[in-house]
Amino acid sequence: MSRARPDEPNAATAPILPGATVGMLGSGQLGRMFAIAARRMGYRVVTFSPDADSPTGQCADREIVANYDDLDAVAAFARSVDVVTYEFENVPTATAAAAARHAPVRPDPSILSVAQNRIAEKEFFRGAGFPVPPFGVVRTADDLAAAVASVGTPAVIKTATSGYDGKGQARIASPDEAPASWESIDRSEAVVEAFVDFAAEVSVIVARDAAGNLADWGVVGNEHANHILDVSTAPAPVSPPVAAEAVRIAHGIATELRLVGVLCVEFFLTRDDALLVNEIAPRPHNSGHLTFDAAVTCQFEQQLRAVCGLPLGSTALMQPAAMANLLGDVWDDGPPDWAAALEDPAVKLHLYGKSQPRPGRKMGHLTATAPTAAEARRRVIAARARLQRRAEAS
Ligand code: AMP
Repeated sequence: MSRARPDEPNAATAPILPGATVGMLGSGQLGRMFAIAARRMGYRVVTFSPDADSPTGQCADREIVANYDDLDAVAAFARSVDVVTYEFENVPTATAAAAARHAPVRPDPSILSVAQNRIAEKEFFRGAGFPVPPFGVVRTADDLAAAVASVGTPAVIKTATSGYDGKGQARIASPDEAPASWESIDRSEAVVEAFVDFAAEVSVIVARDAAGNLADWGVVGNEHANHILDVSTAPAPVSPPVAAEAVRIAHGIATELRLVGVLCVEFFLTRDDALLVNEIAPRPHNSGHLTFDAAVTCQFEQQLRAVCGLPLGSTALMQPAAMANLLGDVWDDGPPDWAAALEDPAVKLHLYGKSQPRPGRKMGHLTATAPTAAEARRRVIAARARLQRRAEAS
């Protein structure tokens, strides 16, 4: 953990101690695991989202069900808590601003406007000197032609807002495909980015407190299937210089943004070992779920500590670990065989309390710990495969 510069201007105010109430904007699995960590430490948790019986609400003290644009409800929520945080980056900025009139909102809502718009995000990276794939901004047909000419093909066009897990993206194989690819994302504001023939995708999750102290869990290796995270492994199989550089960049981004909370930086690692930043999320991240079972302090507890002004905890991994996501597809052949997955005593099960297992929907995950990352990965994938054993046997 690196220590803060003593002259940091936004140094911590009085800590918000156990017994206090934390407000969570959003109610998905990230909020759920945050609520579990927070309640374990004696905090109360209130969640705010449009959904009832939500993953977070099931584990919180109170679940407020209201729309994000109901700013009176947002104000009442913020008045009932000591600090507000969030578990997804598409919290409308007006919602975060309304909450901030009644309680501190951490990370600062200004970070949301960077993270929820790919144009702002990439311009921030480029302006601050963080490495990104070549890109161009598209608002008009002329911009599109210029962007494709400057980054070349193959390229990827991505909507500026509301894209996630590969949604709002299209591949541009050659310049003549550019108009149709823009059409496919409804000619919305977008970025065109060079297609990166990456060797691997990796992430670093970093926590920063108000005094500027930083902590990270090292580099996690991420494998995607259909643009959705499938398996994460820690530590990632990257060289020590690459790991050090990824951590240096993640610390730099958190510091530049004056983050108070937890932030994930996702990277492409090229075949010649260069790191390019893909995107950031100013919250805990799916690739950090394995910290729940494998680290001294998990990403959710660290978010709590950071936003409440408590000292950051150790991020040491007690053992290498791997995580496999459980999407709704796992239910395709009938109820999963949970007992079979848990035959390996090193495997831990997390389910998010969602009742409808739709294809592609993140329903839960498995984590395995082992003496090596490769073994943890093998064991968690094997455990997931056993989930469908009963269906195959019958
Ligand atoms: P994103 O929503 O930007 O994280 O993209 C989702 C996934 O699409 C990434 O994790 C990559 O697997 C893939 N992808 C996105 N952008 C690129 C790119 N410029 N080059 C290659 N693959 C990409």
